[in-house]
Amino acid sequence: MARIEWITDVEKLPLSEEEKAKIRKVSEFFPMKLTSHYAKLIDWDNSDDPLRKIAVPFEEELQEWGYLDPSNEKKYTVAPGLQHKYRDTALFLIAPTCLGFCRFCFRKRLFIKEKNISGNEILLDLEQAFEYIENHKEVNNVLLTGGDPLVLPTEKLRKVIERLRSISHVNIIRIGTKSLAYYPQRVTQDPSLVEMIREFSLPDKRIYIMNDFNHPREISDETLKAVDMLLKAGAVLTNQTPLLRGVNDNPNTLRELFERLSFIGIPPYYVFINRPVKGNKAFAVPVEEALTIFENAKIGISGLAERAKLVMSHATGKIEVVGMDEENIYFKYHRAADPENEGKFMVFKRNPEAYWFDDYTEKVAEFSFKDNLAKVS
Ligand code: SF4
Repeated sequence: MARIEWITDVEKLPLSEEEKAKIRKVSEFFPMKLTSHYAKLIDWDNSDDPLRKIAVPFEEELQEWGYLDPSNEKKYTVAPGLQHKYRDTALFLIAPTCLGFCRFCFRKRLFIKEKNISGNEILLDLEQAFEYIENHKEVNNVLLTGGDPLVLPTEKLRKVIERLRSISHVNIIRIGTKSLAYYPQRVTQDPSLVEMIREFSLPDKRIYIMNDFNHPREISDETLKAVDMLLKAGAVLTNQTPLLRGVNDNPNTLRELFERLSFIGIPPYYVFINRPVKGNKAFAVPVEEALTIFENAKIGISGLAERAKLVMSHATGKIEVVGMDEENIYFKYHRAADPENEGKFMVFKRNPEAYWFDDYTEKVAEFSFKDNLAKVS
């Protein structure tokens, strides 16, 4: 892999002394890390630049708000670095860091210096994890995450993927990465990575690259080359993004993101309600406002561009925000940790102040598609 130039010192940013003084303290809490590639995409003259908000510390991060583990990942951690929440999916947290740190990161607990807990949450005993998957035949897809798996040398990643491919019931291997935004050269300058994808993304068992583009300006010319190389190597590409205040919280930006992604071969997959993560208040958009933005963004675009679902990664499952009327809001368990909840449809009284599922307490009705199916058959 080519040597990556990172900027980790606030002093090196092209900002005024006054601006640097304001954010120095923030980077002591949650470190800054951005590539020189990404720094060139930022409009440094605009303090409200969306890409700057994604990657550069800002004062409001120190506001008391949210939790370090809002989705209670701890509960589903079956061994250090190995999570198993949904029956068919397991997560390997194989990378201890990322190509850049997103200020809104839902796993910032792994990178916060003073906590120094990443060692407990990163998968170190790979063989134990492979054995777990071998013993759980219901697991047909494994997500490699962290951190960003593409920080690992290709040789190491290759060993993990090769071993997973030797387990016959693992069909899908997913790689969660923001490298195509932060440092697409990770793909374009490492032929061995593309070769590895070609070797293990098989006609009947694909490798999925789960991207994390939050704003259309993150799609650079180098990104286009990387996408093209991955598609030609046989990978399937998709995108997920949180809906973030000051980044993509207006229908035009979100629409442009959806459309550009669909044009280049990356269908939008999930839009997340931003989790109540510690320090993330400035990114938070209330659920009902987010739904309005999301629905307006989809008006007038092709079906290929509007395939994303709006979801909350809640401790109990992936809850889709389906719609609302004047009185009620409608949710559905898209994935559920408890199989009993799978597909459950729920109606709540509207609450424009709600930022998360837990803020809707007064349930109006519940409807189980499974029960209804049983009646039909
Ligand atoms: S790429 Fe993902 S894991 Fe890494 S900092 Fe961004 S959100 Fe967090």
